[in-house]
Amino acid sequence: QQKHKVTVIGSGNWGTTVAKLVAESTAEHPDLFETDVQMWVYEEQVTLGEDSPHYDASIGSTPQKLTSIINTYHENVKYLPKIALPHNVVANPSLPDAVKDSSILIFNFPHEFIGNICKQLKGNVAPYARGISCIKGVSVTDDAIELISEYIGDTLGIYCGALSGANIASEIANEMWCETTIAYNTPACDLHQNGNGDSNGFAGIHPVHKNALIHLNARGQPSSTQLTPVPASYPTLNHDVFYKLFSRPYFTVSMVSDVVGVSLGGALKNIVALACGFVEGHGWNMTAKTAVMRRGMLEIIAFAREFFPETIEEKTFWEESAGWGDMIVSCTAARNWRYSKMAVERGVSLQEIERTELNGQKLQGISTTREVIKFLRARGFEDKYPLFKVVDGILDQKVKVEDIPSLFRK
Ligand code: NAD
Ligand code: 13P
Repeated sequence: QQKHKVTVIGSGNWGTTVAKLVAESTAEHPDLFETDVQMWVYEEQVTLGEDSPHYDASIGSTPQKLTSIINTYHENVKYLPKIALPHNVVANPSLPDAVKDSSILIFNFPHEFIGNICKQLKGNVAPYARGISCIKGVSVTDDAIELISEYIGDTLGIYCGALSGANIASEIANEMWCETTIAYNTPACDLHQNGNGDSNGFAGIHPVHKNALIHLNARGQPSSTQLTPVPASYPTLNHDVFYKLFSRPYFTVSMVSDVVGVSLGGALKNIVALACGFVEGHGWNMTAKTAVMRRGMLEIIAFAREFFPETIEEKTFWEESAGWGDMIVSCTAARNWRYSKMAVERGVSLQEIERTELNGQKLQGISTTREVIKFLRARGFEDKYPLFKVVDGILDQKVKVEDIPSLFRK
């Protein structure tokens, strides 16, 4: 039997953490997976300072390739410093080479790079590959909004699910316990291959179109993508296999089929996290932040109802880590919250803080707010989402934080 080859596409703070945890799992399940995990790295030159444990006097301050540093010292010194990576994580600067013959692709980079990366991947991924997107964001044009997993699936001609939850990368990298949600609708063609359902009760049947034999997209419509089945020589790629790949003693996985809820919860909470940071930076505290979180969650659910009415499963927002769980951690402990608070405290724009304080890391809330508001404005819907609109106004420095309460007065 063939084994699944796994590639993580992306190597930032979360990308490297996920590479670490899946590499631990592939080593633990040699019956299902090839042990080595490829990790595609957006190559850059990094200088190791004298204070680095990896400093080599013979190299001195000459910049080195990040991939060489990772493969030599088994540490991503730039995006996940001080975390030892398993030796079966292999950093690779070439996208086509990193994904070659992989049957499982894990997408994990800031969403603004999705177009360019998918362009380079097109024609280079195995036709039977399956994806999991760990990216928190959406893909928006004036005409349409797409989940990142939909965009990946449509562009590459594969099926892609989504992973999202209350997950702070540095905590998980340090093996502090948390939980996550993975949404995956096992394509019917993969199940028919072995006549094999999922042991957790999900039989690969779409929750809305129960008798569907063809694959349905996130809107419950027949997918325009003609999927190539995963060959029968591989272990059936279903909930059980993804559960084994992602779950760790410190990372509890909940498998569901609601790709829309999991994806939108993860993307849109970043707008709310910015609002919480702004409010706290202004000097208000938990009561104000709770009002923002509550209103934010209502806007997320309204958005899901408005644009994905066919498949929305509201319980995801209430019951899953990808819903309220992520909202709470993002508004109290994550980067979008932390740095938007700092921006208000210092009286500078958030874009300026991202440039000066994040050492190359990205705040997904900035671009997500812009994209979502542009999409809503094109439909004349922005007033239906007052919190999202306020965050956009604050980013533009056209609205003041102290004006927020008046915007909610009837
Ligand atoms: P990051 O912000 O730590 O790092 C930025 C990454 O972008 C780096 O790997 C960098 O090499 C890469 N990059 C820079 N320019 C690029 C370009 N032109 N093309 C391609 N790549 C480029 O990234 P992250 O934290 O791993 O975030 C990835 C996704 O994971 C995001 O959608 C984020 O919301 C989500 N996420 C992050 C966390 C977390 O705690 N960090 C937790 C859950 C989800
Ligand atoms: P930040 O990108 O704001 O750090 O959010 C991480 C996250 O998604 C927490 O669940």
